[in-house]
Amino acid sequence: MTSAPLFRKLALIGFGLIGGSIARGAKALGLAGEIVATARSPQTRARVQELGIVDRVVESNAEAVDGADLVILCIPVGACGPVAQEIAPHLAPGAIVSDVGSVKGAVLKAMAPYLPEGVHFVPAHPVAGTENSGPDSGFAELFVNRWCILTPPEGANADAVDKLGAFWRGLGANVEVMTADHHDLVLAVTSHLPHLIAYTIVSTAEELEGVTQSEVLKFSAGGFRDFTRIAASDPTMWRDVFLTNKDAVLEMLGEFQEDLSKLTRAIRRGDGDALFEHFSRTRAIRRGIVQIGQDDAAADFGRRPKQLGAKAE
Ligand code: NAP
Repeated sequence: MTSAPLFRKLALIGFGLIGGSIARGAKALGLAGEIVATARSPQTRARVQELGIVDRVVESNAEAVDGADLVILCIPVGACGPVAQEIAPHLAPGAIVSDVGSVKGAVLKAMAPYLPEGVHFVPAHPVAGTENSGPDSGFAELFVNRWCILTPPEGANADAVDKLGAFWRGLGANVEVMTADHHDLVLAVTSHLPHLIAYTIVSTAEELEGVTQSEVLKFSAGGFRDFTRIAASDPTMWRDVFLTNKDAVLEMLGEFQEDLSKLTRAIRRGDGDALFEHFSRTRAIRRGIVQIGQDDAAADFGRRPKQLGAKAE
């Protein structure tokens, strides 16, 4: 990279899937002059040191943010308030402070009261992830062609919003700006509700009587295994999502229950037309996602079948 880095010093607080992916991408693309990282546990800090991705690993959040012009909290939503309180006295004037939390209203409420005048707070949510977590799980390409939603509070500094947007675009993301409340409503239906459904189905299957656990696992390619990927997501992160986006999730859950009742009724009455019409509409949504490049057109998420003649496991 030949052009000047966007930021002089990037401080990453938390180094799991998201923090680690930002670090890898920012390093590869030269988006920051220096990248300093810290994490809560000595084990994670030691692992980050071993990985050798960032320029410095430091012991404390205060040391990490010292002199940084971009600070990103890459930690569970519920931890953002206390960490904001801790770093507030150490932030450099003019610094941009952001986060990557999957819920935005609660983060805004928890962090904003602690951040001093002259520091620009621009919350963000990269809508990209996997079911893996921890310092080894990140990769530089995670954000490429994914969306990053910025939710600046009213009256936020426009230059700071633009600069953070440029950083995320640099990582390959598309950037959109919206209010925190709208973000939470949209994500309740596109992310939080699907996770809740996956968590429910997987535990329902686990507790079934009349079908053995080994049958559930053996015949999982019938659909179940795709839910298990989502239901394997980090329990701390998802506990915090449901605790902090309660209202929007309950609203979407109400809509979902109504639709589920309609389908239940159609099945009970043997109403094939209603079922067919419903499934045709949902098929069109899948095609729309592929059309706008948010997933691959390849069947079964691009999983390749075993070669003909290969020995079954
Ligand atoms: P992760 O891989 O589990 O990493 C979490 C990091 O936060 C670790 O470095 C952990 O430190 C640190 N941490 C945990 N609890 C903490 C606490 N109470 N105080 C301070 N640090 C703490 O998680 P992640 O998937 O990167 O998620 C981080 C954030 O990104 C969450 O807010 C999540 O909502 C958001 N997000 C996640 C995804 C996704 O798909 N995973 C997608 C978009 C946004 P130790 O390792 O030392 O414990």
